[in-house]
Amino acid sequence: MNAIPNFSDLAFPQPTRESLADDYAAIGALLDAGDLAAALAAWDGQRRAYDSWASLVHLRFSQDTTSAAAKAAREYADVLSPVATAHETTLKRRLLALPDRAALEAATGGFALRLWEMDITTFEPAIATDLEEESRLGARYTEILASAKLEIGGQVVNLSGLAPYAEDPDRAVRHQAEALRWGFFADHGAELDAIYDDLVRLRHGMARKLGFESYIPLGYRRMRRTDYDDADVARYRDEVATHVVPLVARLLERRRREQGWDVLRYWDEALVDPAGNPKPIGDHDTLCVQARTMFDRMDPRLGAFWRFMEEGGFTDLKNRPGKAGGGFCTSFPSLGAPFIFANFNGTHHDIGVFTHEMGHAFQNWESRFQPGIDYLWPTMEAAEIHSMSLEFLTHPHMGRLVGESAAERFRRMHLETSLAFLPYGVCVDHFQHEVYAKPEATPAERHAIWQRLERRYMPWTDYGDLAYPAIGGRWQAKAHIYRSPFYYIDYTLALCCALQFWVRSRQDPAGALADYVALCGRGGSAPFTGLVASAGLASPFAPGALEAVVREAEAVLAS
Ligand code: ZN
Repeated sequence: MNAIPNFSDLAFPQPTRESLADDYAAIGALLDAGDLAAALAAWDGQRRAYDSWASLVHLRFSQDTTSAAAKAAREYADVLSPVATAHETTLKRRLLALPDRAALEAATGGFALRLWEMDITTFEPAIATDLEEESRLGARYTEILASAKLEIGGQVVNLSGLAPYAEDPDRAVRHQAEALRWGFFADHGAELDAIYDDLVRLRHGMARKLGFESYIPLGYRRMRRTDYDDADVARYRDEVATHVVPLVARLLERRRREQGWDVLRYWDEALVDPAGNPKPIGDHDTLCVQARTMFDRMDPRLGAFWRFMEEGGFTDLKNRPGKAGGGFCTSFPSLGAPFIFANFNGTHHDIGVFTHEMGHAFQNWESRFQPGIDYLWPTMEAAEIHSMSLEFLTHPHMGRLVGESAAERFRRMHLETSLAFLPYGVCVDHFQHEVYAKPEATPAERHAIWQRLERRYMPWTDYGDLAYPAIGGRWQAKAHIYRSPFYYIDYTLALCCALQFWVRSRQDPAGALADYVALCGRGGSAPFTGLVASAGLASPFAPGALEAVVREAEAVLAS
């Protein structure tokens, strides 16, 4: 790999329909000539170049959703994407049909073939325009949410900017923040319902065109899940309902008593620490400087990597108007460099999103010498182990980011919010299974599904006078439901693994970190359960695995 340029100097050639056809014709000619190694190498280079270009286009749009040029570039990429997928699928089918399977396995490492066998069932040219439409609807959702301009505390903020108010120690301020948030969703509820209705029908239609009964099996295949199915996931949700929901209810009840509240309302849930949630020790620049020392002390490889990210400009962490919400990590596989995106807002979320996205980025970096592009990222439930584990592995160094006096309070808050996340996470997943099992449901019926599941997984939820979530509208704030169907259980599965790293690091910090770095280096060379086993972790699907880590967390929180 050549020296990596600064992010601001990055530019990748823009592919066209013609250039894609030429690229794939050249790869096909190598196969015709019987040169499998050269064909695979050429294809790997082509995919890296294409993905690097597409990553940059989508990132530029997220950095400024109001830029007409960025939007036009993203729309061009959305139209070209199914064209690239069509070429890829054709080539995967041809490779998988080669008579010398052993040679193909030897050249690719084997697991890639299982991924391709899954991929080729998720695309036919007949769904190309549906995929374009799916991207367009998803981008419209992002634009609507990024357009929020909410007045609070004498300022105009977007949805990310509401966070400090939503966890303000003053209950009236928290209430005001949630009233503004859900007022925004009420104002846009009809359009958000229409977008989702279109997405569900579109996805169901694609599934039918591809020969599936519903979108559920297609959704699992698009997530490249080779080693578990929806029955395993349903059992895991039940484990959460059995072992975590009662625990979170007890923790919330304890908080209600400590605070002397008559009832715990929805807007109280974000105030986790009775003394006020610990905040970052400073702004973006301060946190970046503190992170240098933290990562240096954890592991020289982490320290060197963070310096590379900082010096190369591979971060965009400050909130600003028009920027897409949320946080994510993307990468430029032709360079081997990742990029992290976030919206710092002065709350503990800054630390959470920073350590989380750094975990993804570090994994991608450690995996950069994996033999093929299919192994640079694992499937998402495995990828979230790297991100969520780094959130926990940084615990001993948290004094650098929140101040020594608040470090222990931060650790407890993080543990408690992680446990409280599990019921919400499985609720988001269960909702999607019901939605795609009944694609003809009306928007009102979907809101009723959410309400019913919310009562199962979060029976404590009391929206008070917040009318919109009280009628089942909360799910509309979750981008994954729109943009990344069935990508949510992944966080809850990974958390079960990250908590195991947390337990291990409390006993043996150096050993836990070594195991973590080794897991990062394995990238996506194996399926989820294989990667989990390789790190000596119990599979979340194994009976009792979740209960065991939850009991550890409960004991620590009780002390
Ligand atoms: Zn993540």
